[in-house]
Amino acid sequence: MEIDMPPPPPPQQQHQQFSATAAAIAAAAAAAVEPNANDGGALASPGPCVVCLDKLSRFIVWPCCHICLCADCAAKKKRKALKKCPVCRKPVRDIRQIYVA
Ligand SMILES: [Zn+2]
Ligand SMILES: [Zn+2]
Repeated sequence: MEIDMPPPPPPQQQHQQFSATAAAIAAAAAAAVEPNANDGGALASPGPCVVCLDKLSRFIVWPCCHICLCADCAAKKKRKALKKCPVCRKPVRDIRQIYVA
């Protein structure tokens, strides 16, 4: 007599993590919209990291140049090979550190 075991359900953790991150990004993107964003002259000071919303952004994604990652999250994203910018979702080719004077 054969017993057909149903396959175990796929782990849901990844999906939940993704949703939480997506929600955080959406909130950060909404907060980042400024009425005078098209000023063009002054360089905007970097806001908080869009991933953890805690530490200041110190890394840009290349080539779209969005300043959106702190050192911790940049290191994590580098390890996981970030494919899309968390701000504009353009393909990411590199993550680079910036230096604020
Ligand atoms: Zn971060
Ligand atoms: Zn971008």
